[in-house]
Parts: sequence; structure tokens; C-alpha cells
Amino acid sequence: MKKLLITIDGPAGAGKTTSSRMLAQRLGYVCVDTGALYRAVADRALKANVSPDDDAGLENICRDLNISYRIQPNGNRLFVNDEDVTDRLRTPEITMAASAISARPVVRRFLLNVQRELGAKKGAVFEGRDMGTVVFPDADLKFFLQASLKARAMRRYLESPPETRQSVSEVEHDIEIRDKNDSTRIHCPLIPADDAIIIDSTDISIEDLIDRMAAFAIERIG
Ligand code: C5P
Repeated sequence: MKKLLITIDGPAGAGKTTSSRMLAQRLGYVCVDTGALYRAVADRALKANVSPDDDAGLENICRDLNISYRIQPNGNRLFVNDEDVTDRLRTPEITMAASAISARPVVRRFLLNVQRELGAKKGAVFEGRDMGTVVFPDADLKFFLQASLKARAMRRYLESPPETRQSVSEVEHDIEIRDKNDSTRIHCPLIPADDAIIIDSTDISIEDLIDRMAAFAIERIG
């Protein structure tokens, strides 16, 4: 059966992570959360006290980074230099640092290669901000998810671990800043690809969303 490379882009909280995981599961594909790659670089930068505008420092961090995904029955795990970092990259501090370092071309260039290597084999769902526009412009099927700011903030609030939980209005504020950073940056801004299918997920259930996406995928598989 023909295998597809599917991309899902959109702002924070639009439903990309959940839908990419469920769609991949439905199709028997792997899924790659590319935000985690930016978070992994941000985590290292914070630990090494490298500021987001220190390109030489960021380049050194990228050079020493050995990133791999391991596919496991309960979801993919992200390893950085042999450490499983999957569960500890979603703190507010790493989130905002990821937003800042993601505007730097030196980081985007490095991660572009990492992502293209991961996508060399089809049968994958990639989610991020520039999957359909920059990383995989020839993807077989592209989605762009959006949702109202309120709905996105509430989703992020509910999924955040209680130990590091912010108030809903703090989450909303951080998302607004990240939206602005992502959409106004010069390099690879968050915009839908011309051939992306745009879906507003504000008022639809996750099951309906996956049904819709899977229907497009099945049509493309032929
Ligand atoms: O998707 P997630 O919230 O985990 O992404 C963290 C940050 O990484 C985003 O705020 C965005 O600035 C950046 N990012 C990006 N390009 C991607 C994925 C994430 O710029 N493909």
C-alpha cells in the first residue's frame, strides 16, 4: 500500500500533537513532534547559559546534540545524547526559550537536516510550524490546524503537569507571545502552505478531527 508523508502545522494548542499521534496510530505510521526538537535545543541552551541571540553558542550546542527518536509501543520517545528527555521538556521556561531560539537561522538549519533525515522513510506524520512550507514542501498531504486563542489556552492548561501548572490567563498570555514570535519571524514563519487543508478545531471533538483527517489520507492513498 502507498505510504504517505503527512504534515500538520499550526499554532500552539491547535491540536497538532494529539491529532498527529492519533492519526499516525490509525494509519500505522510513526509520528514526529518537531516542537520537541526545538525544546531539546532550548533545554541545553538554558543549562549552558547560552542566550537566544548568541548564535555561536547555539551552534556549539547543536553540534554536540545527538538526537534520536525511538519508537515504543506507548508512543515515541525522544533521546538527546542517550538521555530520554520526552517527559521533561514541557515546562513554561523551556517553552518560552524554545520560542526564542526557534527564530535563529543557525538552529533552524541544524534541525532542518535532522527532520529531513527522520522523514526519509514515508509512512510518517510530522507536526510543527513549517513542516508543509519549508521542511517537506513535497509532502503528500498537508494540514493546517487552527483554533481560537481561548480554546488553545484551555487545552494547554489542562494538559500541563500540576507541578508546573500556570493559571489559564498566564498560559493564554504565553501563547499570544509565542503566536506573535512564530508568525512574525523572518525565517520560516508560521503560515499555511498554499496546498494545506485548513481545519478549525475549536468546536470539533478530537474523534471528528481524526475521522476528517483520516478520510483525506485514505483518499490520497487511493
Ligand atoms: O509545538 P511546541 O509548542 O512544542 O513548539 C515549541 C516551540 O518550537 C514553538 O513555540 C515554536 O516557536 C518552535 N517550533 C518551530 N518550528 C517547528 C516546531 C516548533 O519554530 N517546526
